[in-house]
Amino acid sequence: MSSANIEDRAGVSVDFDVVVVGAGFAGLYALHKLRDQLGLSVCVYEAGDEVGGTWYWNRYPGARCDIESYCYSYSFSDELQQEWEWTERFAGQPEIRRYLNHVADKFDLRRDIRFGTRVVSAIYREERSAWEIATDQGTRVSAQFLVAGTGNLSAPKVPDFEGLDDFSGQVYATSRWPREEVDFTGQRVGVIGTGSSGIQVIPELAQRAAHLTVFQRTPNYVTPLGNGPMDPEFQRYIKQNYGTIRTRSRQHNTGVPYDRVQPSALDAGPEERRRTYEARWREGGFRFLKDAYSDLMVDKDANETAAEFIREKIREQVVDPAVAELLMPYNYPYGAKRPPLETNYFRTFNRDNVTLVDLRRTPLHGIVPSGVETSAMVYELDSIVLATGFDAMTGPLLRMGVCGRAGRSLAQCWENGPRTQLGLMVDGFPNLFTITGPQSPSVLYNMPLAIEDHVNWIADCIRYLRERNIKTIEPSVESVSEWGSHTNEIANSTLLPTGHSWYTGDNIPGKPRAFMIYLGGAPRYRKICDDIAANGYEGFILGRELTTG
Ligand code: NAP
Repeated sequence: MSSANIEDRAGVSVDFDVVVVGAGFAGLYALHKLRDQLGLSVCVYEAGDEVGGTWYWNRYPGARCDIESYCYSYSFSDELQQEWEWTERFAGQPEIRRYLNHVADKFDLRRDIRFGTRVVSAIYREERSAWEIATDQGTRVSAQFLVAGTGNLSAPKVPDFEGLDDFSGQVYATSRWPREEVDFTGQRVGVIGTGSSGIQVIPELAQRAAHLTVFQRTPNYVTPLGNGPMDPEFQRYIKQNYGTIRTRSRQHNTGVPYDRVQPSALDAGPEERRRTYEARWREGGFRFLKDAYSDLMVDKDANETAAEFIREKIREQVVDPAVAELLMPYNYPYGAKRPPLETNYFRTFNRDNVTLVDLRRTPLHGIVPSGVETSAMVYELDSIVLATGFDAMTGPLLRMGVCGRAGRSLAQCWENGPRTQLGLMVDGFPNLFTITGPQSPSVLYNMPLAIEDHVNWIADCIRYLRERNIKTIEPSVESVSEWGSHTNEIANSTLLPTGHSWYTGDNIPGKPRAFMIYLGGAPRYRKICDDIAANGYEGFILGRELTTG
């Protein structure tokens, strides 16, 4: 079916095979795969004005990826990976946005994307075995399948600072940065939040503002990104060996071709351990976390060796020992909050125009017209930058107004935390697929590869259904419960759930606490997904008896 007549101007509903939500890495590949390889009619709704998803919204100074770009990119088209030239080891946001625009052009994707259009409700109509989707532009369409490519970190945490609206200066959020360049010259700027976004934006703003005040609640274990220009010789090597590199990446839990991890930090003597940490520190990326010792995330003592090494490095970089002490994380294991990677972060605190405020000692009371008020004083500011994070994993899906069978909302279904089969489907929500949904490896894998794995699984599933004239698929209650138990059991065998962050929902007041990422590793996960498909979608209910309206 052609997708030329997506909807008429009067807003009359027209059916699609598939509605995809989001035009980031996930939505773009889903559109290409489902439209161009399966021949389905597909309509994509995207709230932004352009493609890019997270790379469209998070355009703050310093935004860049922290997995090497030759890995953090699509693998589905060899032509694409051969023709695209990365200029830096870890591409900045503008370059990734250019890359995604290139992908949209190359595969002629824009014609089926409705930009500036947010999905506000998605209701499953049992009598038609179809989804009815409504947008903020007043359109309503129906589709047999609904594919959420809404991302894991796309719903900003709503700032809950008292008095924010009364601030007389400008407020910016890293997650919704303006399209026009913001000129901070001569300004007193405050940044609230020292997660990955804060850690990227702080060194940039310090160079532009007259004075920068950083409001830190929890210090982070931060290791160097190790960015630099892409070496042309290395780029040539990658292109000649892309097939092998992608295979090795997919065999690794993190989706990168790291291969030097050693079994135990505790088996190594102090000197050998130091040499290993030093080498991984210099190499950058996630090598320190993922390519040093494999027991860092399961053994507290092993973890502490890495944590202490990082603290020493903070001491070395920060001139004022009192400031260095404030920047050091102590009361949670390394990696139990998502560790940021830095470029010049700690050294920024050696600048005369940067002040660090420790919100643990002097809690933030609220925002007043002239600035930020803590228990100690008011910090007078011209601009406030919120780097306060996201309602992660479940937030983007819950904000879409999804209702499944019998009018049961996704919010009701997930009131005690996400319930899914494989992080891909939810019981009671037939034909709804969630790309990199909660309880899949998602953010602890390499996202473009995680997305490709999921979209390929979804496409195979739809093809299977179509070939057999099956109208609906949904996981059984039992399979969902089993997957939840399996996911929790693995998570609880690690140190990760001991942290308090968006991994567990702790960053959002009132959100049920649940560890939302599958930690069994992408290779094992992929095998489970493949086996389920090979066994005729074991654990899923296939709705032969239902007919479309
Ligand atoms: P985040 O990691 O959740 O960090 C939010 C920061 O804001 C934390 O320091 C938090 O302090 C602070 N905060 C939140 N509410 C606060 C409050 N009411 N008062 C004071 N401080 C408050 O969010 P993020 O930095 O946006 O990063 C989220 C994720 O996005 C990352 O973990 C990463 O996966 C991804 N990301 C990736 C990149 C990249 O390099 N590729 C860049 C940016 C983001 P507490 O820790 O005390 O809660």
